[in-house]
Parts: sequence; structure tokens; C-alpha cells
Amino acid sequence: MGSSLAGEMPPEAFLRPSPVHRIASHSAAPSRTPRFSARQSASSKFSADAMAVAGAMALGVTGGFQASRRSCRTRELRARVARAMSPMSPGDYGLPPKLAGMAGALSALPNDRMRYQQLMALAGKLKPMADDLKVPENKVPGCLSVVHVHASLEEDGTVTFQGDSDALISKGLVALLVLCLSGCTPEEIAGVQPEFIKASGISASLTPGRNNGFFNMFKLMNKKVARLKAAKAAESGESGAMKAGEDTETEETPELQIYNTLSRSKEAFQTLEPGKVKMYVCGVTVYDLCHLGHARVMVFFDIVARLLRHLGYDVTFVRNVTDIDDKIIKRSQETGETAEELARRMEEEMARDAKSLGCASPDFEPRVSESIEEITSMVETLVKKDFAYAGKGDVYFRVRRFETYGRLSRCSLDGNEAGARIEVADVKEAPEDFVLWKSAKPLEPSWESPWGPGRPGWHIECSAMAKRYLGDTLDIHGGGPDLVFPHHENEIAQSEAANDQPYVKTWMHCAAVRSTGNEKMSKSLGNFVTIRDVLKQYDGEVVRFYLLSSQYRRPMMYSEEALEEAQERLLKLYSSLRGAAGAQTESPDPECEQQHRFLAAMANDFDTVNAIAALTDLSRELLQLQQGDHGAEFQTKARQLRAMGAVLGILQRDPEEVCKGPVDSDFEAKVEDLIQARADARKAKDFAKADAIRDELTGMGVVIEDGAKGTSWRVASLA
Ligand SMILES: [Zn+2]
Repeated sequence: MGSSLAGEMPPEAFLRPSPVHRIASHSAAPSRTPRFSARQSASSKFSADAMAVAGAMALGVTGGFQASRRSCRTRELRARVARAMSPMSPGDYGLPPKLAGMAGALSALPNDRMRYQQLMALAGKLKPMADDLKVPENKVPGCLSVVHVHASLEEDGTVTFQGDSDALISKGLVALLVLCLSGCTPEEIAGVQPEFIKASGISASLTPGRNNGFFNMFKLMNKKVARLKAAKAAESGESGAMKAGEDTETEETPELQIYNTLSRSKEAFQTLEPGKVKMYVCGVTVYDLCHLGHARVMVFFDIVARLLRHLGYDVTFVRNVTDIDDKIIKRSQETGETAEELARRMEEEMARDAKSLGCASPDFEPRVSESIEEITSMVETLVKKDFAYAGKGDVYFRVRRFETYGRLSRCSLDGNEAGARIEVADVKEAPEDFVLWKSAKPLEPSWESPWGPGRPGWHIECSAMAKRYLGDTLDIHGGGPDLVFPHHENEIAQSEAANDQPYVKTWMHCAAVRSTGNEKMSKSLGNFVTIRDVLKQYDGEVVRFYLLSSQYRRPMMYSEEALEEAQERLLKLYSSLRGAAGAQTESPDPECEQQHRFLAAMANDFDTVNAIAALTDLSRELLQLQQGDHGAEFQTKARQLRAMGAVLGILQRDPEEVCKGPVDSDFEAKVEDLIQARADARKAKDFAKADAIRDELTGMGVVIEDGAKGTSWRVASLA
């Protein structure tokens, strides 16, 4: 992650050997917990903490502040520098006490002018204190070496700067540092270049786009500070969130909030282990093609994993494949396959659908048939602990022995369950008890067990597979809408009874896709639309986009119109990317306003609706810029849009290809000819002819868009 401006430095800067300067990672235990860092006011790029860090490093050579103030020609720039200078809050970084005290005193002064004067007055005292920064190899700490060096962030959170500093001592570099910290864009920094060069006496050239090393470095610092802060907050039992009101100018980007079905409320997301997320999602019972309801669950949890990873979490995502089930056995008897053959075939079809929808494979996709050992072992534990009982080769879970049963679904055992009668001679002790192991029936697949040959009940498989891959307690357990009861309720009972540990911190459930008539799409109701059917008509990315166009906890009404609309919107987004270079998953400007809106929406319980609204607004700006020269601003924003799209798993294809459809040069030539003919007709004021040509193009499935730079075209549909 290092950055270097080596090419821009004078040769004498490199005559001396390059000592390694380490800014120690301080006493706080390294924590990799990623969090949203506090966002400064819209125009200020780096947090007060990063400022404190770099400020402390710069304190030995404070003269630069003056240079920076003078070189700020615009009021806006001056204001930024002022803001960056004022909010020193050094406590969190563990600065030496004296230095921290001084920085604190500075920040307490009422205005920037006084702070500046005080800083100047302190300058003499500050320099010797540099030694306290534990950079023994360096005579003057930090910032100057920062400027020309390789800066890297180690795994343990240590920031390492490598380079020579003495040769670069100059006021101008400090000025530059301050400008960087104050959130100036590279363009703005380039704007102060003449003054900078004069002040520094160094003929470095700072051109837009070449200063990214600084930004990357400060971004890293910011992240590190956020992590240290989170770790500290966690230690002291706080929520880990940065407190609101710490800085009135600070606009907080909310931390990740997730609706937990268990509490029926949105909660600040906290992981069990810093930086790690263990996520289990109930997979498909593979006896038929998947329908749109399945697609929604697949796409949604794919997004959950993507966002968590985008935020820096190390995610382990497990989704099981239910390949042992009554329905599979029954269907296989109809198709003449073995249950296993049918299950494998349908599993492949499911994987094909998931791929078409742009879903990445989970890290583990265990099959029930390959987890029998884990299952029988857990059932044995439950029997041993008296939570389960066996009879006639079956094993049941004794629900009433698990006292907190019903807390997820909020159902009471004394209410609606009472009506269910037990048949005489049934092994079941109580109607609510559910099966963990079923004795083998003729012609059915079976496995050996301590209770004789048989197969697992449905619920136990998830408890056993979750434990195998993720341990006793999961961060997130997800699934479709109808799994809360009984499936997930039963999973909790099994796992907690067996493991004596809480099972799941956050329960997430995606809502159904309803078909016309407002019925839930389900295979048993026979009213489902398969993913395969929809894919015949629409591109997978369109279907994905359509599924993201509703908040995940709200039921969606299936409609062709909505799919059409999704297609139109997606094509417009792609259209705005025409002329952009390469795909992009890294945000070129994390502080971009739309990016913030986007992330704030996603952090608000995966509000894809508002996240897409931010995408759309950014694409409008792009469409405007397309009328110009596709310059640097266009390219940056286009990269931004694609980086945001990557979090949703969209917008990563070549926009030109998407907009022109599958390559067909004859078709393209014909379209181009017609567009030319239309232009000629319009020139000749033959509008009837121009309109007729337009209609012809529409008939060919082509949408034309007239702009300042002429007419462009794209296909009207993606499939
Ligand atoms: Zn499950």
C-alpha cells in the first residue's frame, strides 16, 4: 500500500541511506475492526484524528502553516485549512502526553488566528519534543519523510515510513501536508503549486492525479485511527460508535445498522470477533428449478456479503444445500432418477441461476448428505442431555425442555399449538416436538446411525453445518421469509441446547416475492415464476437490479412492468458510463457526496432503494459531463459510479457493449446509416422523414439520444 513520489524528488534527497521510521502502534491492541469513520463536513477530507497524528508529526517544523495560509487563495480553501487546523483531538492516538497537552490547548483556543500565533510561539519548544515521538532514527519527526516516502500500513496497524527526511525539511512541504489534511483535491493543491515551490525551494512538481499517494496514506491513517478508536471504545464498553457532537462540523456517517428479527428492531452491528463476520444462510432444497423468491434471497445475501467485505470485514459465508428431503424423494420417484441424481442436477441448475444473477459463490456450500456425521453427533449430544428422545428409530426434540423456545418467532407453546393432537402410539411425547432423525423407509436413501438406518430431519442439518463451518455462535443467520417458524426457532433450540452457547447474534430475513393476486410465490402453491423463465426474457443483471429495487424486508410484487422499468433504469446507468475506461471496484474518492449517500443508505439496513437513488443522481451528472470532453472529471465520476455499482454487483460490464447489444456489425452499420439519414433529413427540415426514420429505429429496438455532440444510440433491451 506504499506510495512514493520518488520520481518527483531531487536526487540529493536520496543520497543518504534511508532509515526506516516507525510510528509505533502504541499500546492499544491491534484491532482490525472496520468501522465507518466519522465524516468531516463535506469539504474536509480527513478526520480530526488523522490531523492530530500528522499535526504532531509536523509540529517540529511549524513554519509551514504560514506558507499554507498564504497560499490559500480562495476563501473556501482558507476555510478548509482553518478547519483542518482547529479540531485537534490528539487523545485517541496516544501521543506523548506533553505533545497531546499542547495540541489540546491549541484546539481549545477560540479562533484560528490565535491557534496559529500560539503554534508559532510554541515552535521552538516543539522541535525537541520530536524525540518523544519514538522515531529515533529521525532527527525531525514524521511529516517530512511522509512526503517523499514509502508509507505503508502493517498488518498490526503500525504505520511505517521509509525515507530520508533531512533533505526535505522545508516549510512548503508542511504547507502541502496541511493542504492534504484539509481535504483539498489534487487539483486544488496543484493550484497552490507556485507558492508551494517558492516556499519549499524544491522543484517538485505536483500535478493533478499524481498526488494520490498522499491521499492514500492519509486514508490509511484515518482507517487506523478509526480502528484504534473502535477498539478503545469496545474496551471501555461503549458502543464503538463515534459520539455525535464531538465536532459540530462533523457529519456522522452512520455505522452499519441491521434489522434483527430477534429484537424486531434495527441494531448497531457488532461482530463477535473484531473484523470477522460468520454468516450462515439457509439454502435451497434442490428438487426443482429455483423461483424468483429464491433469487431474492440469493441476491440479497450476496449483497450483504459484498457490503460487509467492502467495509473491510473478513466474511465467512456458508449456504447449505438441502439434498435430503421428502420433496426430493417424491419428485425423483416421478422423474425416474435416484434422489441423489435429481438433487445434483437441480443443484447445478441453482448454481447456474445464481451465476446468471451475478451472485458470488458462498465460501462453503455444504450438502446435507455429506454432513451426516456432524448431524448424528449433535443428535447424540441432545439425547445425552435429555433434550431429545428416541423411539422406533426416530429421534425427537423435546421442545418444552428448552425453556426459551419461541423467542425468535414470538410464538407461545400454550396457544396455537394446543390444537395439534398426537396420534395414539406415536413416539412423540408432545405435539410441538419435532423430528431430528427419521427411521428409514423402504426405497428411501438412508444412513447408519446409533438409532438404526435413517435420515436427518430438516432443522438439524443447519445447526450441524453451521457449527461445523462457523462454530457455536454466528454473527448473522439469514434466510427466506417463511423460515422464522418453525425452522429457525428449532435451529436455536437445537444449537443452544447442544452447545450451551448463544446461537445467533443477528437474524435476517428477506421478504417474499408475491405473484399477481398478492400470493406468496411458492412451489407448493404452483404460482411461481422460475428464474429460468425470467432469464429467457431479461438479462441476469436486469433481474438482479429489479430485485434490488425494493427494500429487502418488504414483499415485492412480481410484475413485468417492474422488470421493464428496471431494464430501462439499468440501461440508463450504463449509458452514462459510455466513454469510461475500465471496470472499477475501488472508490477513487471515498469522500464523494454520492458515495456517502450510497454508503449511508446501505449502512441503514441495506436500503438499496436509496442507494440506487444515489447511483442514479451520480449518473445524471455523468450524462451532463458526457456532453463535454469525457475529461478527468467524467472519468473520476465514472469510476466512482462503477465502484458503487460493485458493492451491488452491477455496472461492471463494458458499457459500450451493453448499450449496443451483442456484437453485430451489420446491425450497427444499419443503425449508423439510419441515424445519418435522419440527421440529413433534419438538416433539410424534412421532419416527417426524420420522424419516420426514428420510428424505424424504435422498431429495431434502438433508442436514440440527441445530445450536444450528436446522436448516440443504444439498445432498448438487454436480452
Ligand atoms: Zn436452515
